[in-house]
Amino acid sequence: MKKPMESPMESPMKAFVCPHCSVVLSDNEEIRLLMDNPSAEEVGVIRLNTEVGNYEVKRSQEVRQWNPGNKLILSCPHCKKNLQHDDDTKALLYICYGNNVPDLQIIFSTIIGEHYTVLLDMKGQVLQKIPIEEPDRSVSKNMWEHFTW
Ligand SMILES: [Zn+2]
Repeated sequence: MKKPMESPMESPMKAFVCPHCSVVLSDNEEIRLLMDNPSAEEVGVIRLNTEVGNYEVKRSQEVRQWNPGNKLILSCPHCKKNLQHDDDTKALLYICYGNNVPDLQIIFSTIIGEHYTVLLDMKGQVLQKIPIEEPDRSVSKNMWEHFTW
């Protein structure tokens, strides 16, 4: 029996994985990456929303400076490799749906305040450019500070 078509964007099995070591970097809600903020000489952890196009982020409190236009360096918490893609203002992750084989590539800006996300297939064909969405500002503060990407 054929499985019904499922929109990959809404699949609960979506996992973001490191393109270098294939470790899963996400749970259902967040992608956890190492973050280097070279302009402020600060290193910490950043959590990105797994909803593609949602630019809300959380950062660990050791990172105090968060200035639009500043470039971040993101890396894998497991293999520590840089996730940079092509130029040093973009990062790359793979997306898997329900198995360990990457189905999509996602490229996003690492510049604070720049809303840029592109989904590609594994051959590099652009599938979707994600429009800017209004971030949800209703999230309350906890031990993580909430900021907009
Ligand atoms: Zn890795």
